[in-house]
Amino acid sequence: MKLYEQQELHIYNSLSKTKEKFIPIHEGAVGMYVCGPTVYSNVHLGNCRTFLSFDLVFRYLKHLDYKVRYVRNITDAGHLENDADSGEDRIAKKARIEMVEPMEIVQRYTVDFHTTMAQFNALPPSIEPTATGHIIEQIQIIEKIIYEGFAYEVNGSVYFDVHKFNETHNYGKLSGRNLEDMVANTRDLDGQSDKKNPQDFALWKKAEPVHIMRWPSPWSDGFPGWHLECTAMSTKYLGKHFDIHGGGMDLKFPHHECEIAQSEAAMNTDPVNYWMHANMLTLNGKKMAKSTGNNILPFELFSGENDILSKAFSPTVAKFFMYQANYRSMLDFSNEALVASEKGFNRMMEAYKMISEIKSSANSEFDTSKWKQSCYDTMNDDFNSPMLIAQLFEASKVINSAKEGKIALTSEDIETLQKTMHDFIFEVLGLEDTSAGQNNDGDKLSEAVSILIGLRNQARANKDFATSDLIRDQLKEAGINLKDGKDGTSFSLN
Ligand SMILES: [Zn+2]
Repeated sequence: MKLYEQQELHIYNSLSKTKEKFIPIHEGAVGMYVCGPTVYSNVHLGNCRTFLSFDLVFRYLKHLDYKVRYVRNITDAGHLENDADSGEDRIAKKARIEMVEPMEIVQRYTVDFHTTMAQFNALPPSIEPTATGHIIEQIQIIEKIIYEGFAYEVNGSVYFDVHKFNETHNYGKLSGRNLEDMVANTRDLDGQSDKKNPQDFALWKKAEPVHIMRWPSPWSDGFPGWHLECTAMSTKYLGKHFDIHGGGMDLKFPHHECEIAQSEAAMNTDPVNYWMHANMLTLNGKKMAKSTGNNILPFELFSGENDILSKAFSPTVAKFFMYQANYRSMLDFSNEALVASEKGFNRMMEAYKMISEIKSSANSEFDTSKWKQSCYDTMNDDFNSPMLIAQLFEASKVINSAKEGKIALTSEDIETLQKTMHDFIFEVLGLEDTSAGQNNDGDKLSEAVSILIGLRNQARANKDFATSDLIRDQLKEAGINLKDGKDGTSFSLN
């Protein structure tokens, strides 16, 4: 029996604004699309939180024995400085400033993104397609939307006709906006644009002569609009209608709203069953953004090289900190919160490692199967990781008490505790035991220095002071200080 047949998962659907029972389109299989990064700068910690939220979803679905196809794209063209079809392409701008090829920018920051995700122990998606690799698919969708009568061409650019679409469909159903309000709140651009209405959005933009990122199309040499790539790639790899679409909260409008409109216009289907949106990570109560400098980069966190940090934090502690909040809640980043998370994480890991030392009893005073189901219940309730962590802390307390002989546990219960904690800590939350490597290295160093101290003592006993001094002096040069005391020789590191 598959685990998903025993566990009833509920997902908060941004479209219906309620938690709904998760029923995949094809039994036992899940198609999930998540909007990936625009690779024009180093990924910041706020972006990481979004991708780690969906790593948790991916991991839990896999843990439940679903066969998951997880598609997360790389935006390497078409994302303009302003989300509303104006300004320069972000990647082309960076390339112009640095006088390199746009693809050099794409390569550099794609590598940075992959490295950072690997440091966080996030699983790679099943497919990671790029916008530039799917220009033909995007052109085909534009042709279909024009054919269906929901797009128009002006001076080599093609725009989606939001007003025409809204006559027969509901533009704004995801974000809860309606077109009349949008019209009332938009200043007329006074003919600065080719658009019929300011709400219309670009499907294809004609490239200016200076624009280096351009492709041929039936309308002009140009480039696709940003919203289109996700419709093209999700349809290609997951079909017209798939299970889960995720992204950051800030993508709900206009990006995801436009994705729905494109699919409904071109393919006459509502593309997604469950829309999921991950909330922001703030710094000093404000949104992290590169442009304002209110920003922290993952490598600064891992090295401690940022004025707001008192020390370095491991990726796994940073991830544990993020998972101590629900993915739909805002989370404020601070040094104090990280320090507290590190303590909690270490406490949990110490307890986990102590399970094997518990002496079993004939009967149990703790209901481990009920506790185990509580762990599943938290995750079945829209991936409620803070509640899951509370359950793991609960188990840590039980382990500590059992170790001290205050609570009795049968060998079977001890095994259930160990297996369940292992599954949730390492498989579902994807955390890593950071102390293991360090402790090993530290142990080896202590052993090596002890050997040298022993040799020095032997030399002194033989009155070979030249050798004993040489050992002490050379260790000092290597940053290891020996100190002779009443109870023998100890050492400290510089
Ligand atoms: Zn997208």
